[in-house]
Amino acid sequence: MAYTVEPPAEGRRITYDEGSGELRVPNNPVIPIIYGDGIGTDVGPAARRVLDAAAEATGRRVAWMRVYAGEAARDWYGENLPSETVDAIREHRVAIKGPLTTPVGSGFRSLNVALRQTLDLYANVRPTYHLDGVPSPVKHPEHMDMVTFRENTEDVYAGIEWEAGTDGAEELRRFVEEELGCTGVIHDGPVGVGLKPITEFGTKRLVREAIDYALEHGRDTVTLVHKGNIMKYTEGAFRDWGYEVAEREYGDEVITEDTLWEERDGELPAEAVVVNDRLADNMLQQVLTRTENYDVLATPNLNGDYLSDACGAQVGGLGVAPGANFGEGRCLAEPVHGSAPKYAGQDKVNPTALILSGRIMLDFLGWSDAADLVRDGVEATIQDRTVTYDLHRNIDGGEKVSTSEFAELVAEKIRGMG
Ligand code: NAD
Repeated sequence: MAYTVEPPAEGRRITYDEGSGELRVPNNPVIPIIYGDGIGTDVGPAARRVLDAAAEATGRRVAWMRVYAGEAARDWYGENLPSETVDAIREHRVAIKGPLTTPVGSGFRSLNVALRQTLDLYANVRPTYHLDGVPSPVKHPEHMDMVTFRENTEDVYAGIEWEAGTDGAEELRRFVEEELGCTGVIHDGPVGVGLKPITEFGTKRLVREAIDYALEHGRDTVTLVHKGNIMKYTEGAFRDWGYEVAEREYGDEVITEDTLWEERDGELPAEAVVVNDRLADNMLQQVLTRTENYDVLATPNLNGDYLSDACGAQVGGLGVAPGANFGEGRCLAEPVHGSAPKYAGQDKVNPTALILSGRIMLDFLGWSDAADLVRDGVEATIQDRTVTYDLHRNIDGGEKVSTSEFAELVAEKIRGMG
């Protein structure tokens, strides 16, 4: 296949030193961008405009390298996820993407899952915080300030599953009943089967990311969220391995909740992060009723999916919910929302989620000044009540603006602040 996308000549490559774990970022890095399917063609250019303004205001310039996946890639390459796109993201280490539609029908893997697995982006990180002026269904949305670290490569999302009626499903039933002796549990008739792998390796590297983040950002707690009371050897193991990392690898910087009470009468040593654990069902209540008590959450894949959506609903929903996937020296920023096909191409939806995903990416580059400008620019624009339809319908008054108008207003604010 012909090589159709070239890195822009005016940019330089980000490099990573594996020994020191240091990312070396030039002032004009090449950053691949996938606009994505559906509303991706609306929010992609909008986010780019805002991120450009923030880079420029802080004396830098991003050399964007547009790459393709999903529908756009099918037109060009005849495939959903061309290797050239995956290679560009792998080589340049840091990238941003809009949503990709998962084609309906058997045989299609989710492109998002494929990208995360291929690049070993093992932590999906979703910060949930309230921007002043964003309408919310709760009384104190400002109490919400959590960051969910969701394991991204295993659990029931690993894709090891068999459809009812297939040889694989029947073979597994036979193995479980005859070889392992678990009889009388699986009902007769067709059965679909999925496996839930939770490894020590996958758990520990995720929990390390969460604790490192808490230490670097001055957070008070890391909460391991699991269903270990029921799924003892998967979710329970996640909890146990999580505590093991905390106790063995971080010395005095980290203290477990039990030790805090047993040995220190609740007295917290200065600057230490407390690691505790909660059952996932309980946690879905606590994020609503004891919002202020929680900071950083570390959790297996499925719990993290539910939990971050529940948190996001309190602070404005999908239009404003950012995220990013991290691997070793890698970041692929992407919003929580999907391609919302019914709004595609209408210049209507909210680009905030992708813009704030870009903020996470800027932080990863070490450009925290630019990242702060992005946040402040978005917040100031929303405080002016110039918002897209999703926020406009929930506030009194205000002016409804399009995707591109909103982005331009944010860029103007940033230029004014820079
Ligand atoms: P969706 O997030 O695309 O849309 C659900 C609804 O949320 C929309 O109808 C709209 O009302 C609202 N919404 C979403 N984004 C918005 C925005 N930026 N501004 C304002 N409102 C917004 O979810 P879906 O309809 O379940 O999924 C559509 C497609 O997207 C599916 O193919 C799914 O697989 C895919 N998807 C992709 C990703 C990803 O790329 N990471 C994530 C989720 C879903």
